[in-house]
Amino acid sequence: MADMDDADAYDIGMYDAALAALGISPNGSAPRCDHTDTIMPVTPQASGCRDCQALGVGWLGLLVCLTCGWVACSNDSPQRHAQAHYQETNHPIAGGLEPGSKWRWCYVHARAV
Ligand SMILES: [Zn+2]
Ligand SMILES: [Zn+2]
Ligand SMILES: [Zn+2]
Repeated sequence: MADMDDADAYDIGMYDAALAALGISPNGSAPRCDHTDTIMPVTPQASGCRDCQALGVGWLGLLVCLTCGWVACSNDSPQRHAQAHYQETNHPIAGGLEPGSKWRWCYVHARAV
């Protein structure tokens, strides 16, 4: 997980911009994710997946939307409500619900960011 964090640690803004203009990302693979710039600290709105609760089914793993605080089940769950939330709202990034979790997933780039 050193790639993005290390890139951010250096003052390579101009370098990044030049690469972006060429369509090349600094890490050499997927385009750089700038959605992390749009997220803010959020308060989770629930302690479980409300959609699953409404259906009366269980879930595996919970994510919190880092745009609005919506809590929904992860893609490990049968219903994948966090993915559904992204498709409904376009909110790009969800993170682990556990306090202090550093894991974040960008649905637009389909990778951890
Ligand atoms: Zn992204
Ligand atoms: Zn669910
Ligand atoms: Zn949301």
